[in-house]
Amino acid sequence: MFGWPLTHKEPLMTQSRFLTVLLLLFVAAPATWASVNRLDGNAYPVEQSIKLTIDPSTAAYSGSTVIALRVKTTAEDFSLHADGIEISSLELLTPTGPLEARHALQGDVLTVTPGAPLQPGEYTLRIEFSNEFNTQAVGLYRMEAEGIGYAYTQFEDIDARKAFPCFDEPAFKIPFQLTITAREQDTVVSNTPIASESTEEGWKTIAFKQTKPLPTYLLAIAVGPMDSIEMPGLPVPGRIYTPKGMAGLATYSAQMTAPILAALQDWFGMPYPYEKLDFISIAEYWPGAMEHPGAVTFADRILLLDAQQVSASQRRTVALVIAHELAHQWFGNLVTMEWWDDLWLNESFADWMGDKIVVQLYPEMRHDLVEMGSVNDIMRTDSQATAEPIRQPVEQAGDLIANVGLAYAKGKAVIAMFERWIGEAAFRSGVQQYLEQNAWGNAEAADFWSALSEAAGADVASSMATFLEQPGLPLIEVSAADNTITLKQSRFANYGVELAPQTWRIPVALRVGADDRVLERTVLLTEPEMQVAIEGVDSIDWIMPAADGSGYYRWSVGDEPLKVLVTDASNILSDRERFALMGNLGAALDGGMIGGDTHLQAVSSFANDPEPLVISAVLDELDKVDNTFVTPELEEAFAAYIKRSLSPVVDRFGVAQRADESETVTAFRPRLLLWMGAVARDESIIAWARETSAQYAHDPAAVDPSLAGVSLRIVAKDGDGDLFDDFAQRFEKTNNPAVRSNYLRALGAFDDPAIRERALAYSLTGPLRPNEMFTIPSGIAQTNEGANRSFRWITDNYAQISQRMPPLFIPFLARFGGGCDAERLQRAKAFFGDPAHQVEGTAKQLEKTETGVVDCIRLREREAGNVAAYLTASM
Ligand SMILES: [Zn+2]
Repeated sequence: MFGWPLTHKEPLMTQSRFLTVLLLLFVAAPATWASVNRLDGNAYPVEQSIKLTIDPSTAAYSGSTVIALRVKTTAEDFSLHADGIEISSLELLTPTGPLEARHALQGDVLTVTPGAPLQPGEYTLRIEFSNEFNTQAVGLYRMEAEGIGYAYTQFEDIDARKAFPCFDEPAFKIPFQLTITAREQDTVVSNTPIASESTEEGWKTIAFKQTKPLPTYLLAIAVGPMDSIEMPGLPVPGRIYTPKGMAGLATYSAQMTAPILAALQDWFGMPYPYEKLDFISIAEYWPGAMEHPGAVTFADRILLLDAQQVSASQRRTVALVIAHELAHQWFGNLVTMEWWDDLWLNESFADWMGDKIVVQLYPEMRHDLVEMGSVNDIMRTDSQATAEPIRQPVEQAGDLIANVGLAYAKGKAVIAMFERWIGEAAFRSGVQQYLEQNAWGNAEAADFWSALSEAAGADVASSMATFLEQPGLPLIEVSAADNTITLKQSRFANYGVELAPQTWRIPVALRVGADDRVLERTVLLTEPEMQVAIEGVDSIDWIMPAADGSGYYRWSVGDEPLKVLVTDASNILSDRERFALMGNLGAALDGGMIGGDTHLQAVSSFANDPEPLVISAVLDELDKVDNTFVTPELEEAFAAYIKRSLSPVVDRFGVAQRADESETVTAFRPRLLLWMGAVARDESIIAWARETSAQYAHDPAAVDPSLAGVSLRIVAKDGDGDLFDDFAQRFEKTNNPAVRSNYLRALGAFDDPAIRERALAYSLTGPLRPNEMFTIPSGIAQTNEGANRSFRWITDNYAQISQRMPPLFIPFLARFGGGCDAERLQRAKAFFGDPAHQVEGTAKQLEKTETGVVDCIRLREREAGNVAAYLTASM
């Protein structure tokens, strides 16, 4: 699955902390586990066929299934999964005839009890059933776009059982054969090519070819009046399916797929494992995408682009999401985790691989820098006292929600660190061995580590384990005397927080300036303290403790050496290292190693860095300063500071795209202009925004697609009710997902309190899709006062909101109590502490929210004076 752009903060755009937090839920939440019931496996499926009659213009569907079973030892009964399904008949057969059997559905477990004990051997289970379509975008669900009904599936992790009876666990990896009866005008897509098709009285019945062995969570079905176009250049047949009339917006993405697939085949040293590769674009889709073999599903906002109007960030996002989902075809699909405790590995690997492919195929995007933003964000999350290990046993309800939160970004950073340590070639050969040994079956993380250790000729597993089975991250304190470097490790903690001591086995990559030379050393730090002598060197001038900006750890070098790094950064540090330095400065502030004034002064010196993406990392830090310290009284000083810091950058890059500029300039400009227009309130940028937004209204194609959205949001800030109506009308009228999204976000950018009220009401009463309902409240929550208002919107409308979203995301509504405000936190604790407003997982999210608020308030109390003094002194 891919949450992007919802999993990560859009690194080039200012986004509210709430949107970021809410959107984190897409990484964090695999499913509601309120009723996780693990099957004993004594009776297990060998293959399954499923017949469904699906008419998305009605509320219900019906079907039947035949499951070939094997029973290992004598048993009274056996169970499989079915959740909320009406069972109309159930028959259990032996090879010689039917057996008498009772069945009972309790929770999501369907138990079958024969009249006499079940003997080992082969059985067939036949079930007829009916069900209502789900309306919260999980299981087999229906939705409408432009008044037309469509039916889709989304099963990961445990929602296949909501669609039909099945053995809904990843270890039951078996061939499936699907047959779908649909209205003649509907198109039907599933994982495999069509084997046969017949029509009768306005209905058609499509039998799909049997799948390769798959776990239930990877099955996919789409039914509706879809259009499609071919994806050229693939080694297997492949099309992009869209809602009716939208196929023209799929041409850009269609062109991107073949090179990405080819690069992956090359890296894995293995052809794409399935018979076809279709993409399905869905209007109401909460995750970014999902890797079903042969039928990858995508949110339309990612896949459907106007080919003449693709912004730099859209281009990078679509490449990244396609690469992530296609990486899963090998890692996750061909070889599947045995149980959900290794889901993190599935996702970490796909994220890491997706990054690698995008960096390789599109070097101009500088994704090697952009991806560092998500790692920095996750390090901040992982620094909190409530952080948990990414790998833990998953035994009971709620475990998975707690564990997977860090999977994508922490996991990929750890994988990258160890790849760097053992070398790219050894790492790749370890992955290839792992895939060959476990093809079409299941495996565990331990199998992966042993393949890597074998390929590397080194013990990778025990070092990896220190990062995966312990929470948090290390802080490495680095000092030097003569030619000797001392490394000390401890657990990084935010200021004032006591955490139990831990030790990691850390591949530390050092870049060292000594005797006018630059050297690189990687050492495995396994003890609390270690000394490294640099041979042939008299004295050490400077040390960058995270060479190439890599490594899942924070570091500290002391005041004077830090000054040297900051001052000489442009001469001695690479752009990745300068990017990493920004995040590490933020951590030093959080950890109490530097004051708020020193932090501001240091990051400010990179505000006009040669690399625009480093300036973007500066803005990440300033975002934090804004959210933590900038009260209404400080707003003017902060605005002046931003204007002074960023004006030279605007002068350097201009407000319009230049023919010869690098893609990172194009990608960064919208964020720059948004800060100058919305935070600094620079008159010339506001005038630019007025002109640009007017032009966009007249003809969207006439405006740089990267800049349209920010111009609308800048103008909205002091816009009136007429402008709101105009934006709402344009939002409703367009069928271009990018234009739709630009106007919707702008609707949440008005400052006028009365318009905000209208906007919040519109989120629930306007023609928004359920997965769009948080866009406006998140925009409003940019300020503390706005955050209070959005929080009240959540609590006032909790019943309605929670009914419209997938249940797995509901716990994360508690995060709307986050920020830096003790009173809002108290209200959140009162509201979400009430059992009437809780689902499985809410309490844990509330606890994490509280930790974040307490840390933020403590930081503000400690450093507000220093920050205010710095900002006002330099006014
Ligand atoms: Zn994924």
